Amino acid sequence: PEKFAQQNIKIVAAKPLGTRLYSGDVKKCTLIPGDGIGPEISAAVQQIFAAANVPIEWETVDVTPVRGPDGKFGIPQAAIDSVNRNKIGLKGPLMTPVGKGHRSLNLALRKEFNLYANVRPCRSLEGYKTLYDDVDVVTIRENTEGEYSGIEHEIVDGVVQSIKLITEDASMRVAEFAFQYAIENNRKKVTAVHKANIMRMSDGLFLRCCREMAKKYPDVKFEEKYLDTVCLNMVQDPSLYDVLVMPNLYGDILSDMCAGLVGGLGLTPSGNIGLNGALFESVHGTAPDIAGQDKANPTALLLSAVMMLKYMQLAPYANVIEKACFETIKEAKYLTGDLGGKAKCSEFTNEICDKISKSS
Ligand code: NAD
Repeated sequence: PEKFAQQNIKIVAAKPLGTRLYSGDVKKCTLIPGDGIGPEISAAVQQIFAAANVPIEWETVDVTPVRGPDGKFGIPQAAIDSVNRNKIGLKGPLMTPVGKGHRSLNLALRKEFNLYANVRPCRSLEGYKTLYDDVDVVTIRENTEGEYSGIEHEIVDGVVQSIKLITEDASMRVAEFAFQYAIENNRKKVTAVHKANIMRMSDGLFLRCCREMAKKYPDVKFEEKYLDTVCLNMVQDPSLYDVLVMPNLYGDILSDMCAGLVGGLGLTPSGNIGLNGALFESVHGTAPDIAGQDKANPTALLLSAVMMLKYMQLAPYANVIEKACFETIKEAKYLTGDLGGKAKCSEFTNEICDKISKSS
């Protein structure tokens, strides 16, 4: 609270977990433009925010890894300080070298700020044809442990072991986040996704935590489903699901599948919510094949920024931007290549800005 007071940000309601709501004037927000197409799509979001007069001041930081005192490469301190100060950030994609070089900065950021819940809403976009037009699911993924706990070792030559770590604390808080999210977003059902038939102890614990939490939220329907059943159902009838909560690895995979159902990664936003802050990011990568060519679709990062505005209690701005973006896609006059169009990123962005100007 002292830190918020220094920045003239008042906490109007503090939930026990995750959702902190702000009120105040202009807010500073950390911006990590990222690699590849990151700078182009970040610039597009900044242009659209300016057109909508969003009361946000961007604090742009560089996260190019630097060598620390221990000789290992990590996130520069200035970037960490910025997120710690602002408590809120928007992030473009970051390149991760495969098999060598620095470890994933995305993972490092999640660990550094204890961003324990990854939230990905996937909704069919009107006017953009996909297999189903009624997809409206939200995946909530435990973001700090499971198979991604980073505990791996070689036992003997040719045999490695990776530990799947599940704790009661992390499972309880992500389960609570899921039910809280359902209540706040007028959602009716939470499905716990698991493989407790095989991973009896680890997924068993996760599932028990979800059941415990469900008892505290009698107004939200609760169900349990095996991951494989959910995958099958999701491609056959996605309307069966509403909010889904699951351990890390399952969430990583299932959320991409849901993104595929609504038109791909270029359209899907996400939020990483923690106890001390939140980082919103597009789920696609750096798209090196089209970087620097003004071809990227900025929608995923823009919708992540829209999620961020809603989280910051700036919904009126979020709604104006979201509407202009959806209308631009529905009209299909200025679609980028990934959506089957020929427009440049800048043309798509200008069209959204025009719509915002006309609506105000
Ligand atoms: P990618 O998502 O970058 O690209 C896959 C395909 O989708 C490419 O053809 C690309 O052109 C297209 N694409 C992606 N986003 C697009 C957009 N906004 N508009 C138009 N087309 C788009 O996946 P990749 O090639 O597997 O990964 C490239 C790099 O990105 C790797 O270094 C990887 O580690 C990193 N990555 C980062 C994140 C992140 O920071 N959250 C996520 C995934 C991958």
